[in-house]
Amino acid sequence: MATIIDGKKIASEVRQELKSKIEWLKSLNIRVPGLVTILVGDNPASQSYVSSKSKACNEIGMLSKIEKLPNDTTEQQLLEMIDHYNASDDYHGILVQLPLPKHINEDKVIERISPSKDVDGFHPINVGNLVIGKDTFYPCTPNGILELISRYKIETSGKHVVVVGRSNIVGKPVANMLLQKKEGANAVVTVCHSAAKDLSHYIQDADILIAAIGKANFITADMVKDGVTVIDVGINRVEDSSSSKGYKIVGDVDFENVSKKASFITPVPGGVGPMTIAMLLQNTFLAYIKITKQKLA
Ligand code: NDP
Repeated sequence: MATIIDGKKIASEVRQELKSKIEWLKSLNIRVPGLVTILVGDNPASQSYVSSKSKACNEIGMLSKIEKLPNDTTEQQLLEMIDHYNASDDYHGILVQLPLPKHINEDKVIERISPSKDVDGFHPINVGNLVIGKDTFYPCTPNGILELISRYKIETSGKHVVVVGRSNIVGKPVANMLLQKKEGANAVVTVCHSAAKDLSHYIQDADILIAAIGKANFITADMVKDGVTVIDVGINRVEDSSSSKGYKIVGDVDFENVSKKASFITPVPGGVGPMTIAMLLQNTFLAYIKITKQKLA
């Protein structure tokens, strides 16, 4: 039976570590890190994500602001707001909640955020730096995955990591991070996607499997080898008449059966999910440190 990787516990440790650092700054009467989140429109899921992020900031003593803009906000108005926060001394991280309404060009918006405040790690400059192994902001979910692997002391050097999924927010960045010739990485990485002819062929050989597909219970026990480490990024709703909500959340991996063969496995919920916001807070702290150092230099 696999060791369950407890993302909730690790995320709480990360938050506690940041909280202590912020308390120390406060005790010295020094400005604390700040995160501004910009939400355009009234998408209920986005509203809920934004308020969770703000709550998490408040819990660790970080300055937090939510800018709520109406659905008919023009691209120009949004870009001007980003310019305002790029120049602000109080906010070190800027996050524009995606998706944006269709009349706004997301790429243009992401590129307007100063790379030094891009705590989502989506700016092309930061993406480029990630690929060539230079100092950058790592996108939050991939960064959370590496943090889990590291805190559970799972060896990655020379191991075969198979990533299923090639999105810009999970699959591609996590694959590139694990490929780097660095401690906590240095893996041999295979990236699979929907055009893979025989997915099991690749997955069977994985020492570490990262599933970021978005299909409930898609990875089954017959596909993996004994002793594999499984990181399940998927968040999928499936019908569940026993739940008052009528549904439950499951991952991309058939947890019940795969956990009997794996050595380590993340549950859903409670695995990768809680790490994403923890890493957003960590990135905001990092942005604060970098900006403050630059000002003192
Ligand atoms: P995308 O839909 O952007 O990407 C899914 C990827 O899976 C694509 O690359 C797709 O291939 C691949 N894929 C789909 N079907 C197959 C198949 N049959 N065989 C092989 N590959 C396949 O999703 P995201 O990366 O944004 O998210 C993936 C999952 O992770 C979702 O469930 C999402 O909710 C969850 N998620 C969780 C987060 C968290 O825990 N905080 C954060 C972000 C996402 P192709 O490129 O060819 O289409």
